[in-house]
Amino acid sequence: MKVENSAPHKVVIVGGGFGGLYAAQKLAKAPVQVTLIDKRNFHVFQPLLYQVATGGLSPADISSPLRSLLKDNKNTEVLMGEVTKIDPERQTVKLRYREISYDSLILATGVTHQYFGKDWSEKAPGLKTIEDAIEMRRRVFIAFETAEKELNPEKRKEWLTFVLVGGGSAGVELAGALGELAHGTLKEDFRHIKTSDARIILVHSSEHILPTYPPELSKKAKASLERLGVTVKTGTRVIDITDNGITLKTGDNLEQIQARTVLWAAGMKASAMANLVAEATEAELDKSGRVKVTPNFHVPKYDNIFVIGDLAYYDHIKGKPLPGVAPVAMQQGQYVARLIQSRLKGKTLEPFRYIDWGNLSVIGKHAAVVDVKGIKLSGFLAWLFWLFIHVFYLLEFDNKLIVMVQWAWSYFTNNKGARLITTPGEQPMIQYEDSNTAYNGLANGKQDPVAQTVTVQ
Ligand SMILES: Cc1cc2nc3c(=O)[nH]c(=O)nc-3n(C[C@H](O)[C@H](O)[C@H](O)COP(=O)(O)OP(=O)(O)OC[C@H]3O[C@@H](n4cnc5c(N)ncnc54)[C@H](O)[C@@H]3O)c2cc1C
Repeated sequence: MKVENSAPHKVVIVGGGFGGLYAAQKLAKAPVQVTLIDKRNFHVFQPLLYQVATGGLSPADISSPLRSLLKDNKNTEVLMGEVTKIDPERQTVKLRYREISYDSLILATGVTHQYFGKDWSEKAPGLKTIEDAIEMRRRVFIAFETAEKELNPEKRKEWLTFVLVGGGSAGVELAGALGELAHGTLKEDFRHIKTSDARIILVHSSEHILPTYPPELSKKAKASLERLGVTVKTGTRVIDITDNGITLKTGDNLEQIQARTVLWAAGMKASAMANLVAEATEAELDKSGRVKVTPNFHVPKYDNIFVIGDLAYYDHIKGKPLPGVAPVAMQQGQYVARLIQSRLKGKTLEPFRYIDWGNLSVIGKHAAVVDVKGIKLSGFLAWLFWLFIHVFYLLEFDNKLIVMVQWAWSYFTNNKGARLITTPGEQPMIQYEDSNTAYNGLANGKQDPVAQTVTVQ
């Protein structure tokens, strides 16, 4: 690491997620110059993405502009851009039209979906970004809208069948929110369908959903989901996904389910940055593509290139990789920021210690499971705990009082106000309706005028 010249030490942070943002915050008062680069101009509170995907919160409720989050850090600039190359010898990263030089580089670009080599991303969108959440929301509400107009009972059933793949935290939270939507929020809103007829099926490959929780909490989570009308299929794998169905395998049994909405919460792999790092620094990647780092989070060959958060494979505590959760990314971001400051003072820093605050997952409006420091809670108490932690975080970050008010409102009114179907471009993308022969062939033989006038993308 270069520390000899008098110009301020330049720290470039790539990624304004939990890891990058916490690193930047920790460097706010340090004698360094910080550049935070992200391809989006906002930070997202990913644990609440499922709320956007199911119409409970609006995208802006769980996002904050990076520029405003960091406006008080006078040593920090924010650049919106995508890093496409790292040159460790010249100590630069490349944006599309510009190179930025660094003395220390912190890479925190997270992960993306993994379909285990299958081409299912269009058929079963995943949930990682705000854009993903908006797309899921569109598919979910289009399904109810189309079912309302569908005259053929078999097709209507297809539209009212939702399959979620992956019984980790994200899949369980999504399934719970969908259950609540179908059996509660939407119940009075439609005239031709009973939304409570919706089938919501959560598919999970191993024996217990929420595999990182103790089995008794997994069982309680399953029971809570079932109370919300969700069918949980464990020990079940996805074999195929088509436009209107999914094939599942449980043991030797194959099952075909006709479903128009399949949502993916099953696997993650490192973002494209991992390959850039491997190419530039010869760092090794694990089987999910994460960058293997040293106990101080740098790549083995360059001690000024740090990789943190979901992008990093860090197995120096108990020989197991740390999980891809927000507290890991936050603590690693803070640690690396402290390490850079210590080095500048010519000091060493004690090894990284991870404080594990445990696991929380919410299931619908009244229930959650909590496994924190040996305390195991489920049901309403767990839900209150979950709510406190999440609101606390949002308040700490951006004074999101509105989120609290909104939650309180939807809690008491059973309403989810953000149920918008939006699509890019000028026309609503409703091609599903257009292919719907029952709808076009209405009883009097006339075509529906709306269906004739929409532009289909
Ligand atoms: C649906 C969902 C639910 C979750 N629920 C929980 C939960 O309940 N509790 C929990 O602890 N954790 C949860 N997590 C995990 C948690 O959100 C992650 O562990 C955490 O976000 C990782 O932080 P990070 O900084 O490594 O990456 P991220 O927060 O993913 O941030 C990465 C950032 O890098 C940017 N970026 C990517 N590539 C580039 C590039 N080439 N150039 C510039 N910028 C780039 C992205 O735009 C993004 O802002 C959840 C995740 C998801 C997806």
